[in-house]
Amino acid sequence: MAITPLMPVYPRSPVRPVRGEGAYLYGENGEKYLDFAAGIAVNLLGHGHPVLTKAIQDQAATLMHVSNLYGSPQGEALAQRLVDLTFADTVFFTNSGAEAVECAIKTARRYHFAKGKPEKHNLITFSNAFHGRTMATISATDQAKLREGFAPLLTGFTVVEFNDLDAALAAVDEHTAGFLLEPIQGEGGIRPATHDFMTGLRKACDEHDLMLVLDEVQSGVARTGALYAYELYGIEPDILATAKGIGGGFPMGACLATEKAAAGMVIGTHGSTFGGNPLAMAAGQAVLDVVANDEFLAAVRSKGDRLRAALEQMIPNHDHLFDSVRGTGLMLGVKLKSDSRAFVAYLRERGILAVAAGDNVLRVLPPLNIEESHIREFVDGLSAAAAEYEVPAAAA
Ligand SMILES: *Cc1c(COP(=O)(O)O)cnc(C)c1O
Repeated sequence: MAITPLMPVYPRSPVRPVRGEGAYLYGENGEKYLDFAAGIAVNLLGHGHPVLTKAIQDQAATLMHVSNLYGSPQGEALAQRLVDLTFADTVFFTNSGAEAVECAIKTARRYHFAKGKPEKHNLITFSNAFHGRTMATISATDQAKLREGFAPLLTGFTVVEFNDLDAALAAVDEHTAGFLLEPIQGEGGIRPATHDFMTGLRKACDEHDLMLVLDEVQSGVARTGALYAYELYGIEPDILATAKGIGGGFPMGACLATEKAAAGMVIGTHGSTFGGNPLAMAAGQAVLDVVANDEFLAAVRSKGDRLRAALEQMIPNHDHLFDSVRGTGLMLGVKLKSDSRAFVAYLRERGILAVAAGDNVLRVLPPLNIEESHIREFVDGLSAAAAEYEVPAAAA
């Protein structure tokens, strides 16, 4: 047999981590990596954080899983905490980001159904978006590489240009349920929604009774220096998907909604076997214990500012390779003048992990509790690598 036991859907790099410690990963043969990828914005407390590790250990020994047939003191407590910290009135727990977005899509459709308008089932989504790999979430994007070979996809999505408010408003018709977008596109290349775009969509939702659905799977949970990126725009969504960092590495996500938006989500409309189990809730509580306070968020903002300033100071020295820096907090991207994937691979050989993204962007997504020394190590390493890097001829 030629196929590998692990279904060969990933272009896996030669990095083979077996252990992590803070901001570092260690490979099978003892190789050391500075981890500024953090599981793609997941390990926001780094690796082996004592608060998170202990919470999971204790909960695993106490009660790991029970069915959602029973009352959930653990789920109620974490949901209440998220309600207190955000715009939301109610929370559905999932196991992943795509499932959180799925729940968000279902909630938006059910809202209109419950109001007697089932024809309002269409979400307006945006170019270069990434919402996950389920059938609904690939149907919500225009990216051929995610969609090819999976037809027929779901109907009910209209894709328009990101950050083009006029195009988004022009796409609204009697079938529109709302808008679904990432406040800062992650996979698409660290592209923030403009202030006017976001506030314009909010206003349209208020005027036409539409749902503003935010996918904060990557931008959420303190990544930008706000607990959720919508706060940076001075608006509130109706529905929000969160995952990645929320469990600090434990697989979990959540769909948050206002009471109004969740009006259709009554008994029997949705469910998940594992979603919200006690082990996941313990991980979520531990993460919020560390990140959900003004001091931690302010530290993320100042580390983000320092990292950004250091990158901006460094990149003119290598202007054959680097173009500009973008992003907010510790959700940063360096736009390259050549293929970012090739340079990410080169960095990896030199012991530095970052993530390639669309638009030839090198994504910089470190743990949120990094120190000044890690920032220096990363920027120095990036600079040294750039100095020796030969832009591949084909991609130059
Ligand atoms: C990663 C991601 C998802 C999908 O999350 P999974 O946990 O992989 O299902 C959805 N939306 C955004 C913005 C993401 O970055």
